[in-house]
Amino acid sequence: MKTITILVPCYNEKSGIEIFYSTVKKVTDTISRYNFEFLFVDDGSKDETLHIIKKLQHKNRDIFYISLSRNFGKEIAMLAGMDHVSSSAVIIMDADLQDPPSLIPQMISEWEGGYFDVYAKRLHRSGETWLKKSSSKIYYRILNKLSDISILVDVGDFRLLDKKCIEALCSMRECQRYTKGLFSWIGYKKKAILYDRDSRKTGKTKWNYRKLIHLAIDGITSFSTVPLHISSWLGFFVSLCAFIYMLYIIFKTLIHGDPVPGYPSLIAIILFVGGVQLIVLGIMGEYLGKMFNESKHRPAYLIVESNIDHFSRVNKM
Ligand code: UDP
Ligand code: MG
Repeated sequence: MKTITILVPCYNEKSGIEIFYSTVKKVTDTISRYNFEFLFVDDGSKDETLHIIKKLQHKNRDIFYISLSRNFGKEIAMLAGMDHVSSSAVIIMDADLQDPPSLIPQMISEWEGGYFDVYAKRLHRSGETWLKKSSSKIYYRILNKLSDISILVDVGDFRLLDKKCIEALCSMRECQRYTKGLFSWIGYKKKAILYDRDSRKTGKTKWNYRKLIHLAIDGITSFSTVPLHISSWLGFFVSLCAFIYMLYIIFKTLIHGDPVPGYPSLIAIILFVGGVQLIVLGIMGEYLGKMFNESKHRPAYLIVESNIDHFSRVNKM
């Protein structure tokens, strides 16, 4: 019988783990043609998340866990999980029950129908502010314009991935991961399932605007070099304007002389050009920083403890 792994990254989710397990278990118990196992990745939680997972694991043989040495972020936690599965398919789910387990049977039947990546697409997002929704909409529009691959809008990490996709994702060892983009990059036949996203059942969201902006910049700089082209064009355009203005000044001085020293225009130009230079340097810095971090070839994560003995692709570089 084939096995399907439910992969759950958890960071400070003590209030939700048990109810998550029992809720999802109810659904998976109705599907008898597969074995199900749960893999919880404790992403360096500061509360009793790991303790609760271990307690649950003592009572249930279908639970596996990995505990990371610190908080590495959800993207890396998912990678750690994927590195350690050997099943035929993986379903990635959030621990807060925002991803409805009721979609699992449908995901599995689409997978059986020949799709490699069955993802859930949100129709409505309840419990999120207007600002978050509209900024995310604008962001994805820009990201899709800038990058060669198309990144799906209103799609989270809740999806079923075939073994093939997992192998492909694990072979990409970049540490600053933008998993949403990687899902598109690997290709394979994809299928969407539509659903309404509920608000969190327990605990609170781990995202704040600082983290989201970080992820947003990672998304653009991982999948597009267009900002570098834009900065070259910007530099070219500003130089052209400066050159035209210089000709104008020279002719004006030759014809009318120079009655008043041009202090205001001088300051305006210096500030403008200085600003453009800083922007361009900043953009280059983003890419350089990425290269710097990746060139260190550090392992993406470190494990403190786990009950898995088949460390299949562990810490493969
Ligand atoms: N998560 C994680 N590491 C982090 C932040 C979040 O493993 O650094 C997990 C978290 O425990 C949850 C999932 O990622 O299972 C989604 O997080 P959250 O619900 O906070 O995100 P949102 O649903 O608000 O986008
Ligand atoms: Mg959530």
